[in-house]
Amino acid sequence: MVRVYTIASGKGGTGKTTVSVNLGTMLAQLGKETYLMDADIGMANVGLILGLQDAPVTLHEVLAGKNTIDEGIYNGPAGLKVIPSGISLQGFQQADPDKIRDVLSEIVKRCDYLLIDAPAGISKDGVVPLAVADEVILVVNPELSSIVDALKTKILTEVVGGHVLGTIVNRVDAETSEAVSAKMEKVLGVKVIGIIPEDPNVRKAAAGRSPIVTRYPDSAASKAIKKIASELIGVAYKDDTPPAKGRGGFIERFSNALFKKKAKN
Ligand code: ADP
Ligand code: MG
Repeated sequence: MVRVYTIASGKGGTGKTTVSVNLGTMLAQLGKETYLMDADIGMANVGLILGLQDAPVTLHEVLAGKNTIDEGIYNGPAGLKVIPSGISLQGFQQADPDKIRDVLSEIVKRCDYLLIDAPAGISKDGVVPLAVADEVILVVNPELSSIVDALKTKILTEVVGGHVLGTIVNRVDAETSEAVSAKMEKVLGVKVIGIIPEDPNVRKAAAGRSPIVTRYPDSAASKAIKKIASELIGVAYKDDTPPAKGRGGFIERFSNALFKKKAKN
């Protein structure tokens, strides 16, 4: 059964595109036929992150009725299929967000999962993706303004007949992740389906035009995304990378320290 997820937020810059690109790549890597559509038609970034910035046909042209959806689908990492959006203002003006429904009905025939990278805010192009998805996933940062804006988006989703599956809290400081998660669930009234730490490799991967999950698969953010993807498709997540030497967890460091002390005595 095909599942359509819209990746949304209230505030801009919380990590929607990062989550969309990496979750999509991970689902594809886990063997699922996955499509990613950049519905942020005003501030399109998916193409930039995946090196598809020169794609001749984008969602702009499709939503303007100039091209068919088949002409706007490109091969991405790990077998992910990508429908990028254009970056021109004129293209944005000519694109009709209501046509997203027609594009969707074509795409869902072909895949297991469709991820829609949605715009921030509550304009019309932002509302359509909230209404058409089976589930909306809110990407939130642990700041008050981000939480308040996400709450607005949650309410808006319900008003337009959509459903929020949960939130992904992004850019979390590892020390505070449990407290942040509890706070989010309380304030937003939806479950936290994943926590992604602040990770400098996210930017490095984006600068190299590739997803972090393929570029730096052992990175903390990659592991967090793999866990979210595994849970979405109902398979057990296992962290199979060995801990780096000398940089293990508390128990390892504690026993190392203990051993050294004993050796000296
Ligand atoms: P949005 O699509 O919501 O506007 P982006 O995915 O473009 O947000 O992310 C905004 C910026 O934050 C980008 O520069 C991205 O590289 C950075 N970023 C996103 N997630 C993380 C993270 N977990 N750690 C570090 N930087 C991140
Ligand atoms: Mg974006």
